[in-house]
Amino acid sequence: MISHRQKPVTPWPLIVLFVVISASSILLGYLYYKSQKKRLLNDKSLELSAIADLKVKQIAQWRNERISDAVLIGENTPFLKLLSEYLHGTNDKILRSDIIANMKSITSRAEYKNILLIDSTGIIRGYYPNQDTLIFKYINLLSPDLVKLKSGFLTDLHKAGNISYSHLELIIPLLNAWRKDSTVFGFLAIRIDPNETLYPLVQMWPVPSKTAESLLIRLEGEEIIYLNELRFKKNSELILQKSASEEKLPAAMAVRGIEGTVDGVDYRGASVVAAMKKVPGSSWYMIAKIDHNEVFSVLNEQMTMIIIIIILFILTVGLLLGILEWNENVRFYREKYEAELDHLALRKHFDYILKYANDIIFLTDRNMVIIEANDRAAEAYQRDRKELIGLSLSKIRAPDALKELENESRILDEKGFATYETVHVRKDGTTMPVEISARKVEIEGVKYFQSICRDITERKSAEEILRESEERFRKIFEESPISIVMTGKDLGIIRANSAFCKMLGYKEDELKTITLRDFTHPDYVAGDDVSLLRLVAEEIPVYHTENRYTRKDGSVIWGSATISIIRNNNDEIQYFLAMIEDITLRKIAESELIAAKEKAEESDRLKTAFLHNVSHEIRTPMNAIIGFSALLNEPDTPESDRHQFIDIIFQSGSQLLSIINDIVDVANIESGQVKLNIKEMNLNSSLRILDEQFSYKEKPDIISINLDTGLPDEKAVIMTDSTKLIQILSNLINNASKFTRKGRIDFGYALKDGNLEFFVKDTGIGIPPEHHEKIFERFFQVDNLVSRKFGGTGLGLSICKAYVELLGGKIWLTSNPGKGTDFRFTIPYVLPGKV
Ligand code: ADP
Repeated sequence: MISHRQKPVTPWPLIVLFVVISASSILLGYLYYKSQKKRLLNDKSLELSAIADLKVKQIAQWRNERISDAVLIGENTPFLKLLSEYLHGTNDKILRSDIIANMKSITSRAEYKNILLIDSTGIIRGYYPNQDTLIFKYINLLSPDLVKLKSGFLTDLHKAGNISYSHLELIIPLLNAWRKDSTVFGFLAIRIDPNETLYPLVQMWPVPSKTAESLLIRLEGEEIIYLNELRFKKNSELILQKSASEEKLPAAMAVRGIEGTVDGVDYRGASVVAAMKKVPGSSWYMIAKIDHNEVFSVLNEQMTMIIIIIILFILTVGLLLGILEWNENVRFYREKYEAELDHLALRKHFDYILKYANDIIFLTDRNMVIIEANDRAAEAYQRDRKELIGLSLSKIRAPDALKELENESRILDEKGFATYETVHVRKDGTTMPVEISARKVEIEGVKYFQSICRDITERKSAEEILRESEERFRKIFEESPISIVMTGKDLGIIRANSAFCKMLGYKEDELKTITLRDFTHPDYVAGDDVSLLRLVAEEIPVYHTENRYTRKDGSVIWGSATISIIRNNNDEIQYFLAMIEDITLRKIAESELIAAKEKAEESDRLKTAFLHNVSHEIRTPMNAIIGFSALLNEPDTPESDRHQFIDIIFQSGSQLLSIINDIVDVANIESGQVKLNIKEMNLNSSLRILDEQFSYKEKPDIISINLDTGLPDEKAVIMTDSTKLIQILSNLINNASKFTRKGRIDFGYALKDGNLEFFVKDTGIGIPPEHHEKIFERFFQVDNLVSRKFGGTGLGLSICKAYVELLGGKIWLTSNPGKGTDFRFTIPYVLPGKV
């Protein structure tokens, strides 16, 4: 990507990397130096300690050897005898030359420089090779203790008399041992030059070194005396003194009792590593030391190299990172350069676009005066480009849209950009709607406004057409008498028209919170879902269904629904459109029609059965009448038979009449011609007559007929249609006697709740419960043996029901098949004068 930065960014990561690498290398170098220094110091300490040990051993050995020499000389009896004789006064020449010979042999050892012979009073009586008149402090102070000495000893180092070098003496007491006498009769004092053996022993260093040095010291009072010649201070033995309280001085530390290795400052003031040790059997201390500078000289050389390497490394890293950064900068400027080239090309192209752009482009100053405009602007406003430049924007605004200009300019100034629609005017006065996208720009520090205007005349008219079409659609949708609902993919309702709202009893707002499923009757939801899936899968173009829907008030309606899918331009499902027609009334009509049809078919079936019955019922008595009438004509028919035949003809006639009456009654009821004839009726007496009639018909030992009048006679005079009441009761009692083979028939009435409730109860075959309703229908007969045997038309009970209802009551029954039936009906209890 081409960067818009003017300068490359500071390479902070590289700088940090460089600093980290440099710091790490320096730290590593420092740590290495520290560890090496520690190791070297350690090594050197061990070495010094070993050297100090070795020297202390050698010096102790040297001292022992001297003492051994003293012992040997002290036990040389011939020599002692000679010395004894000499000291006791014999001054024989031979004796002296013998003594000289012995002394010569002793001084043949290089470090024994001179021998003095001293008598027990301390006077020097002899010498070899020089006559040293030296009277040193030990001889001077020959104390009784010294005289008692039995073995030789070494004096400390000192300078004395005219002897130029520092030295020490080996003092040998002389005893008359051979006489078993332990009295000391004199001393031999052998002067030892330490430069011969002792000092070389001290100074010798096992490895070549520039600063290594070993010293012998002793404490004298508060001062430390350096005993041997010093490497860096010539001729200072027994002269140089230092205070024992000097803290850093290794010699001072040694006399303070510190042993081992220490860092310190030596007599020159140089930093040293020193090992200190006391020489056993003497007052001497051995100090072996070496300068720090020498110890660390190799390390310092190494470190110089390491520092050079670290510096070179840091420089190399710096160089590499610098090259990296340099490359980066080169790349940055190259890209910048290329981008600049591209930019130039683009600008050319852009100027071209601007000039020939399809949109109107203006540049205005802060006062909304046009300072630049493209060709399209000139063309759109029918003005020359030069004419446009210098024109205020208000001049190309339609007068109606002028008042918003100020507000729009303010918003543009505040926000830096603005888009709005307005109306512009051409030179000829015609207007055009435009869409403006304006932006505040800064060119070389001066603020301008750049506006891109698009002539949206066509879009506006398209929008108008669309708006009108939408309005039309909205009206169609809204005002459609058919319920229409638009749902989302989840069947959630988005829009519903007023017919739909009315059909389901919801307001449109309420519907927007529910889905189509919510008011679809649960029995139909699953089926709907399957069909909608098929619709979505384009297996079916539309989905038709007849469903039940639950209204807001809980009532259920029938609806015929047609559901289709609305897709967008990408063929993606957007909405479901459902048109639902309320078909509840049609459905009711349909079911009524079906019921009526079924009823008609049933009634047809019944009528056919009735015709069979009627023809049978009519034919039977007719045959009897015709047959027996013919027999009456026979001249030889005896009189008794004749009477019987007439009786049969009479009964058959009555039966025929009753059938015809029934048919006529039904016909009257159906045509609505039955009229009530209400008048006074003595209920009790009418019922008694009925009782008598039926009792007369039945054989009392088989079926007994019992009447129960529920009111006293004086209260039993009522207003009703007595003929119909008697016909109802007769029919019921007739049926009871027809379907009761043995037992009893009870009938009567009682006053209940202001009505008269009549009953006719038998102990007959009973009626199965499923027929309790049906037996009141016309022509219905329970199919059983008794019906078949007695015949009948199935009209009696339907007539009873019609009459009871006509009289203002109702009829019902209770029955137990095999045990009997109890028919009951009511009529209003109306007393005369109350009608
Ligand atoms: P039907 O002329 O056949 O008697 P109804 O209308 O009087 O016609 O009676 C219809 C049917 O009801 C009878 O055919 C009979 O099967 C049944 N039924 C009526 N009354 C009784 C009753 N008391 N006991 C048993 N069945 C009865």
